[in-house]
Amino acid sequence: MFDFLGNLERTHMCGDVRAADAGKPVVVMGWVNRRRDHGNLIFLDLRDRSGICQAVLDKELTPEGHAKGEAVRPEYVVAAIGKVRLRAKNAINPKMLTGEIEIEATELRVLNDSRLAPFSPAEDAIQNEELRLMYRYVDLRRPEMQRNFWLRDEITRAIRESLSEQRFLEVETPILCKSTPEGARDFLVPSRVHPGEFYALPQSPQIFKQILMISGFDRYFQVARCFRDEDQRADRQIEFTQVDLEMSFPRQEHVFAVVEKFLVAAFVAAGITLPTPFPKITYDESMRRFGSDKPDKRLPELADVRGAFTDDNLATLQIDPALPVVAFRIPAVGELSRKEHEDNWPMFDKNKGAKLIDDFKRLAKGFPEGAAKVRELAGASNEDLVILVAGDPTHHIRASDAKCEGRLSEREINVYAAAGNFRTELAKKYATRHRAFEITESVVREADPKSDKLVDGSRAFHPMWIVDFPMFEYDVATGRWVPAHHPFTAPHEHDMANLESDPASVRANYYDLTMNGLELGSGSIRIHRKDMQQVIFKALGISDEDARRRFGFFLDALEYGTPPHGGIALGLDRIVMLLAGAVNLREVIIFPKTAKAIDLMADAPATVTDVQLKELHIRVVAKG
Ligand code: ASP
Repeated sequence: MFDFLGNLERTHMCGDVRAADAGKPVVVMGWVNRRRDHGNLIFLDLRDRSGICQAVLDKELTPEGHAKGEAVRPEYVVAAIGKVRLRAKNAINPKMLTGEIEIEATELRVLNDSRLAPFSPAEDAIQNEELRLMYRYVDLRRPEMQRNFWLRDEITRAIRESLSEQRFLEVETPILCKSTPEGARDFLVPSRVHPGEFYALPQSPQIFKQILMISGFDRYFQVARCFRDEDQRADRQIEFTQVDLEMSFPRQEHVFAVVEKFLVAAFVAAGITLPTPFPKITYDESMRRFGSDKPDKRLPELADVRGAFTDDNLATLQIDPALPVVAFRIPAVGELSRKEHEDNWPMFDKNKGAKLIDDFKRLAKGFPEGAAKVRELAGASNEDLVILVAGDPTHHIRASDAKCEGRLSEREINVYAAAGNFRTELAKKYATRHRAFEITESVVREADPKSDKLVDGSRAFHPMWIVDFPMFEYDVATGRWVPAHHPFTAPHEHDMANLESDPASVRANYYDLTMNGLELGSGSIRIHRKDMQQVIFKALGISDEDARRRFGFFLDALEYGTPPHGGIALGLDRIVMLLAGAVNLREVIIFPKTAKAIDLMADAPATVTDVQLKELHIRVVAKG
């Protein structure tokens, strides 16, 4: 029943045949996207990665081909041999790039059949994501998915080329290695040859890339696979790809310039411009203005509305006068019912020592002047939803009140964060009303990576550097200051003296790149001297013994002429997700895991045989 390919050669990709080819002989190969049987004429839409074109099987012209055309079904693999001809005027399909032509087939070869797939790649939206992941090979045939991975390829290549032009050397570091302290749980791989010992999969190439600077490579990069055993989210997978880089003798600005250059190149590859230099704000300012260290500039900022109330007002409202009083608006949401307000309450994090005042009518009754002033300060119109967030004196969370000159205390940060998180959640929920995200969607839709014409991305994408993060976070459970970043992050030189006496005041030489509410990457200037590294370990409560056990090799390396160095890593999947206009990383990761960390297609993780376990010196203890 099947035909052989023989020495048949393809002349065109399906999506590439054009009116200018009319009259030419043609051979295309691909999958049957749709089939329409009009009796003596059978139309086959043939699909390959370039697109779709229509082949016609005319019973008179090719009785044999027509008979095969009757037998083929969607997703059969065929070759159509024939001649390009212009379609009749009334049959032109302006929506298809190949809509002006069709292939008048003289022969059809059926190269393979296909079982009936659980969904058709010809469908636009497939609701059942589990099915898509289980039959990922069918899902990936969909034009949208083909486009995502084609885009990913373009973006990755542009980044590689930019870094190579900037004299970065691409180096592959090991996958089977030792634990890297990025703050997540490790994936461990048992050693067969060394019973009871384990490799760890890299959470990042952090230590290796620093050693490469010690080795004199000066500028390193890698499109690096990283593994972190943590809960999955829309923007987080246990296995992901970073554009990882490190450079010797840099200041922060040098790292920023390198990243801006390759990110601009990535955007250009997607058909979009991105103005440089990217704005830079401190962590404190970001918390104050956005209640988040991943600001989304498409939404209105938080407004400081402390001045709208007298001290008596605050007392009556049971608001902590020593903490921030902020308001924000979500545009065009309109009036919410009591029930709608209540439905939103679970999105407000009550564990941050902040309270929510969302019943504006009631506020206006009790405090007409204050309420009017809040609206004014927040720049709110009548259609906007206005929310007030302030410190709750009855719920004084355990946090540090340590406050350094001009900086925010932890308790203040928490109030801002409560407001910021709620703002983000509400903005997601009411996206169709405020429509602030649509500009990004429309730019992505309009952009054509294949054309030289670039779409202006300045209003749709808002990159921002966040700098001057605190070096430590206060851990309420233990009452200790714990590292906010990996332990190789250098503190600001002028804060070094306070490491032990006043940890809250120490700023890290650490930076994040954020865009549209997403953290795209983070990095830092590193500690390059052993004496300093030991002080930091001590400040972080890592004992000499523990440090030796965990990164002894690295401490040794630090003693052999380590240059000042620093770097950054950006999430490649996230960059592609933004530029593909996708809402979940699964749309741009080729074989992703589900929220429960399962690969539904390969059915992993899975049990292994007793023999394998024995070889690895492992005994599995059943749960419970
Ligand atoms: N290794 C860090 C990370 O994965 C990035 C860096 O500091 O360069 O977040």
